Amino acid sequence: TPAKPTAAARADVPNDLEAFWLPFTPNRAFKKRPRLIARAKDMHYYTPEGREILDATAGLWCCNAGHSRKPIVEAIQRQAAELDFSPTFGFAHPPAFQLASRIADLAPADLDHVFFCNSGSEACDSALKIALAYHNVRGQGSRTRLVGRERAYHGVGFGGISVGGIVNNRKFFGSLLSGVDHLPATYNREHQAFTKGEPEWGGHLADALEGIVGLHDASTIAAVIVEPMAGSTGVLPAPKGYLERLRAICDKHGILLIFDEVITGFGRLGHAFAAERYGVVPDMITFAKGVTSGTVPMGGVVVRKGVYDAFMKGPEHAIELFHGYTYSGHPLACAAGLAALDVYRDEKLFERAKALEPRWCDAIMTLKGLPNVLDIRCVGLTGAIDLAPIAGSPGLRGWNATGHAFHEEGIMLRLAGDTIELTPPLVVSEAQIDEIMEKTAAAIRAAA
Ligand code: PLP
Repeated sequence: TPAKPTAAARADVPNDLEAFWLPFTPNRAFKKRPRLIARAKDMHYYTPEGREILDATAGLWCCNAGHSRKPIVEAIQRQAAELDFSPTFGFAHPPAFQLASRIADLAPADLDHVFFCNSGSEACDSALKIALAYHNVRGQGSRTRLVGRERAYHGVGFGGISVGGIVNNRKFFGSLLSGVDHLPATYNREHQAFTKGEPEWGGHLADALEGIVGLHDASTIAAVIVEPMAGSTGVLPAPKGYLERLRAICDKHGILLIFDEVITGFGRLGHAFAAERYGVVPDMITFAKGVTSGTVPMGGVVVRKGVYDAFMKGPEHAIELFHGYTYSGHPLACAAGLAALDVYRDEKLFERAKALEPRWCDAIMTLKGLPNVLDIRCVGLTGAIDLAPIAGSPGLRGWNATGHAFHEEGIMLRLAGDTIELTPPLVVSEAQIDEIMEKTAAAIRAAA
């Protein structure tokens, strides 16, 4: 029989926890001791009982402006009353154009065109499809191979899991896309442990792309996709020089370079996009999450002018790209995106993330020496703490630590295996940074 939450008498506590199959969650462990959230404001969540939970995860790396911010909430309300939905296949509405222009302005160089979708997964699959079609329309249809990386996360579509590098996200789902190669992961504890920011060691790992070109020939390779900072596998910043080297090798061989900035976009690393932090211009940038500060689902791909222009050929009445989603550029998402970008600009939140980074990194490194802590990494307003797994039960120590954190310490921590990830909203105060570290330390001790 399903476990019932203790406060079942309350109207906002569901008494049936069985019907909802939670994504990426141990459902049985969760339903034994649910971690329920009923409300949110600024830096905090609140349980149905009204207990305050400090949000050290910006939801799921997305609520960069903090929660339920008035200007964003009101923009969504106004838009719902004004225009609930209009198609973007053959028609369109003003907010979609406005938001695309704003995003293109934020993106570096000639990343001037924006294709909208509804999630990071769709953004990745869209970028991969645009890359394949781009070569095709230029008469280079033999370029069909895609290159991802070990430990990468590009969402859960078949394209994304094919170029992704998380074993459990791949092994249950058949043969995936054929013609995919993987660069080696950039993390190496022996060379990089307890590094603040980008590690010195590892830039040379980009050269593995030359090996893949040597094996298959450049004429068969369409695109390389990487996260400038791999978030979902434990905050792995690009080593110094790595992205520059990838760019140079891609240029040499006519291969498109895609940065998956679903996490790193919109301020997480102290810039609108991480491409700016690293001074490297990719051919496409995928985004999602922070574009609406997590309020309404939205994703997209920012595309360089030359890529877009390659499609704008042939008869003018003919569709140039056979791809899109019913909800591409949904009016509510566009309104939320415009309001979120206003908050980011008016409150200088990207600059704030950059200014806080040294303080943040110093704070997270104070956790070094706690029981089972194997490594700590940080970059931008993001950090991760690797805990030693309990022998024979990988993931259990992490699950216990985040459970203790939620139920006893009043803090939400993100978990990846036995790695705790800290990614607070960019409005986090210095006092809250200290509070995050104190509560995380208590959770790590409790899980020892
Ligand atoms: N790409 C990256 C780099 C991500 O971190 C994520 C989600 O965490 C995704 C893609 C998938 O996004 P979504 O869950 O919105 O599909």
